[in-house]
Amino acid sequence: MKSTTEDIHVLEQIFEQFYAVGITGMGGVTRLGYSVEEDEMHRIFRELAEKEGFQTYTDEVGNTYAANEISNREYYLIGSHLDSVVDGGRYDGVAGIIAGLMILKWAKENHLNIPLRVVAFRCEESSNFGRCTIGSGLITKRIGKSEVECLESRDGKSFAEIFKERGFSMDPAKIANVKQYLELHIEQGKVLEEYGMSVGIVTDIAGPRRFNVHIHGEAEHSGATPMNMRSDALCAAAEFILEVERIGKDESHRGSVATVGVIHAKPNVLNVTPGEVTLGIDLRGIEDESLELMEKRMREAVTYISAKRHIPFFVEKTSAATPIKLDAGMQKKLVDCAERLRITYKIMPSGAGHDAMAFAEITKAAMVFIPCCKGVSHNRNEFTSLESIYDGARVIYEYLKREGETYDLSEKRESH
Ligand SMILES: [Zn+2]
Repeated sequence: MKSTTEDIHVLEQIFEQFYAVGITGMGGVTRLGYSVEEDEMHRIFRELAEKEGFQTYTDEVGNTYAANEISNREYYLIGSHLDSVVDGGRYDGVAGIIAGLMILKWAKENHLNIPLRVVAFRCEESSNFGRCTIGSGLITKRIGKSEVECLESRDGKSFAEIFKERGFSMDPAKIANVKQYLELHIEQGKVLEEYGMSVGIVTDIAGPRRFNVHIHGEAEHSGATPMNMRSDALCAAAEFILEVERIGKDESHRGSVATVGVIHAKPNVLNVTPGEVTLGIDLRGIEDESLELMEKRMREAVTYISAKRHIPFFVEKTSAATPIKLDAGMQKKLVDCAERLRITYKIMPSGAGHDAMAFAEITKAAMVFIPCCKGVSHNRNEFTSLESIYDGARVIYEYLKREGETYDLSEKRESH
């Protein structure tokens, strides 16, 4: 490996290539999935890889790959995404791609004898179609045509139409020959920073359960309706929100969280009692049992508050995903690598969803987190240092180096 400064300079140069794409007046970037800005990000990725002498290609759903070898051998896949939320930051996803390119470069310079590919997935964020991890989901068959064909983009274009225009397929052949999947990503929380650790080795990815709760009170004159004759939906909501917080806190020892992130009150007028409220609830955890309990307690709170206040509540479950376990063997080896490199690490779950979820279902998958400043993400103020990307990339490279030592042996073993 070359000197640290030289490598960081390379990372910086790659980062700068992507810098201006989708720049907003406010200083962030908007690079929505399957938009021209995302296309441009993929074009740059391809160009950077080809300049280094790697082979590139695009799959049936538009994901872009760079490879040190294209053959029928099983390969290691390093992935992340190049799209962003609206007025988002420059590191979410991109950090993983920059790291991937660096690792590919190191592998070439050091004649690492393993087939390695870096993939930039399409449309990881739900910002454009209200659905996340589309590129990785379709190519692994984690999600099917029926789940995407009726989607619409923010500007009202149909997903099916967009795919047709671009010559992509909503029913692609499933990706094959992936021996293991690795992903570097910014943490998007502040755990690593609080603990002062350089990387996170991820154990599980939390499964979200989402609900809309509708509360039906009575919209009445706020001056003429006495306090004891009201059906105030917002007061009922307030009680419920605090209960959801309590439920999350009670389950926090198991790594669970509970959030009421959306509130719509009607008519939302100063001199009318709130007649109708809709809340959006996000329960997340890495243990199914904990998620189950949180949902049960949330429903009990609904019954209790509704009865006490004589106000009807309706619970609508909008989605439920099971938590994902990443490969324990890979985690252990990544920990060894971090120790060998004297890079401080923390073993931790991921609260946010990632492309790795799709691969964990078809092969062995692992994730390495790097800290991001104050945990800020999905925001134009998102920041992580190039040194952090470098540290994370080194841990993954060290891992692959070790894999390289036994790759031929395992290939032979598997073919017998
Ligand atoms: Zn991301």
